[in-house]
Amino acid sequence: MLQQVNGRSPGFGARGGESLSEDLREFLVGEAPLHQLDDLTKVNPVTLETVLRCLQARYMADTFYTNAGCTLVALNPFKPVPELYTPELMREYHTAPQPQKLKPHIFTVGEQTYRNVKSLSEPINQSIIVSGESGAGKTWTSRCLMKFYAAVAASPTSWESHKVAERIEQRILNSNPVMEAFGNACTLRNNNSSRFGKFIQLQLNRAQQMTGAAVHTYLLEKTRVACQASSERNFHIFYQICKGASKDERLHWHLPEGAAFSWLPNPDRTLEEDCFEVTREAMLHLGIDTPTQNNIFKVLAGLLHLGNTLFADSEDEAQPCHLMDSAKCALRTSASLLQLPEDTLLETLQIRTIRAGRQKQVFRKPCSRAECDTRRDCLAKLVYSRLFDWLVSVINSSICADPDSWTTFIGLLDVYGFESFPDNSLEQLCINYANEKLQQHFVAHYLRAQQEEYAMEGLEWSFVNYRDNQMCLDLIEGSPISICSLINEECRLNRPSSAAQLQTRIEGALAGSPCLGHSRLSREPSFIVVHYAGPVRYHTAGLVEKNKDPVPPELTRLLQQSQDPLLLALFPADPEEKTQEEPLGQSRAPALTVVSKFKASLEQLLQVLHSTTPHYIRCIKPNSQGQAQTFLQEEVLSQLEACGLVETIHISAAGFPIRLSHQNFVERYELLRRLHPHKSSGLCSPYRAKGRSEWTPHVEAAMLLPLLQDILHTLTATTCAEPPEA
Ligand code: ADP
Ligand code: MG
Repeated sequence: MLQQVNGRSPGFGARGGESLSEDLREFLVGEAPLHQLDDLTKVNPVTLETVLRCLQARYMADTFYTNAGCTLVALNPFKPVPELYTPELMREYHTAPQPQKLKPHIFTVGEQTYRNVKSLSEPINQSIIVSGESGAGKTWTSRCLMKFYAAVAASPTSWESHKVAERIEQRILNSNPVMEAFGNACTLRNNNSSRFGKFIQLQLNRAQQMTGAAVHTYLLEKTRVACQASSERNFHIFYQICKGASKDERLHWHLPEGAAFSWLPNPDRTLEEDCFEVTREAMLHLGIDTPTQNNIFKVLAGLLHLGNTLFADSEDEAQPCHLMDSAKCALRTSASLLQLPEDTLLETLQIRTIRAGRQKQVFRKPCSRAECDTRRDCLAKLVYSRLFDWLVSVINSSICADPDSWTTFIGLLDVYGFESFPDNSLEQLCINYANEKLQQHFVAHYLRAQQEEYAMEGLEWSFVNYRDNQMCLDLIEGSPISICSLINEECRLNRPSSAAQLQTRIEGALAGSPCLGHSRLSREPSFIVVHYAGPVRYHTAGLVEKNKDPVPPELTRLLQQSQDPLLLALFPADPEEKTQEEPLGQSRAPALTVVSKFKASLEQLLQVLHSTTPHYIRCIKPNSQGQAQTFLQEEVLSQLEACGLVETIHISAAGFPIRLSHQNFVERYELLRRLHPHKSSGLCSPYRAKGRSEWTPHVEAAMLLPLLQDILHTLTATTCAEPPEA
């Protein structure tokens, strides 16, 4: 049964007796006060302004969740609302006969997703895609959903046979504080901003119990280890160690109280995320024992000291620039913590070795001060990113169920939302590219599929023009020529090229694309991409270098010499590296660029998402100051535009958001048949759309809708005050 909500017949007046059922009353009464409209498809007319007003009214009434057709809009309360996430409420949503009848909530999405897995004769994997800009509440939402599933999908045996901390659900939840300690940081927009994308697959067995999980991460912002914007911070873990280490540990890791580290800006800010104990506990439960933990923290302390290794300009270009006096101790300490020979560490930072010519002769070139700094930062990024990946793999080996113990999964995707800053570079290009892909997935899966389904079933339906972003994706990733391919080509050719040349090349080769904006007015070389969420100007300076993300082989070789067990595990001796002298004429495969790697992982993710039934949660930040009870229209408006929410509501509103099986329809409206047998004959006669045995009977619903309207019309005009006896 399909209901066309916005296309209400003018025959429905505002009369509604108290005694009418709630469904009927809602149908008859017309407009409810704005804050009571729990589905944005009911706002009339659907415009940015009305949607905005409705969300504002709800926010001010402390109602943070609102349906928007097939999506759930989640407003960040920016204050604790514990009553919204109690185990009792989880149970209520889990046990409700129709959770969609309860107030909109992430638990409705969670429960419907969970029921979907089992309600279909062929179990189908599900996914929940949580999107929104930084600080909007994505990570919070995913964490809450994980808690929800840990409660509703807990295996009963694990309660009996394991201590709470050992249970798989608890271990899965423990992955959060660990990943957040190492992958989150305080930024201008969010004190606990995730600096990586995350997709977690919660694995369910045939009885729908959670038996494990697998985490995939995307594009960790590793530059943060060595470079933090003013007023921002490094990853939480560094502060946790410095604040939480015991006296003995401070001694071992050379972290005297109050020590200043240039890679540890704003250490005085105290955040609740700074709790070292929570991270250590969680690591322990994930099977990372105390000696291994101490090894990790020792290496991180080594990185902090490496950050204090500062170089001074050399007077003679032929000589390597030397260490500043004040940095000598930092270098020694860093080398000792990383268990590297001090002189080799220094030399690797100061001198570049180049293998050139057919004989692969080795040339040694002293580095400038800036080059030394770059090499030092690169070393830290290399260690940190390998450590992060290693942690993810350790977490996975601790929580991943063995393949025969699960049949389906629910995937939770928490990725960075669309970004547009005054200065956008490769990071934003990748993030916005990912968002374009997800938007396309949304359009393809929901909007297009819905329209095609209606067409297939011969339903009368006026087609909504949705914005297909294929052209934008062609511009970014298409073949043979696209922004990605041009940037990659510059990396491959390895020729000196200026930022202005890259701009000219992009604008020349892709001039035909309607999604390439005009960048003429910019002083700095740049190009503009018109994304579905708005135009973004990307600066071309440094783009090619960032895309290469070069790691001098000497750095890897250096780390392979470490005596530290953890570094040895992160940088195993590479047989190829040892026999660098490859046969003549056979060059090594070019290293993958950042864009290529990102594209490959994105494609993998989309393949997985395509194999699931998706559900969407759009998180919205009511203000950028993180204040409760503050709804800034301008700020929300730009987010609504960025996620194309109004378009989504239009389609959901114009479409048929409610689908009942024939059985449910009959049970629900049986009453009407008894009331008006002459009008409703045939209402309950079984009808099966050809080839579709039990689901989405659009055709019969289309037939029944006018009949139902007719009956309701008669009812309002005559007998509506008297409820029939059930
Ligand atoms: P994102 O992952 O989108 O960048 P977060 O999930 O980290 O954003 O949320 C940012 C902050 O907003 C959280 O640290 C928390 O303080 C607050 N917050 C988000 N959602 C909620 C919620 N439902 N209830 C209370 N506070 C929330
Ligand atoms: Mg986050």
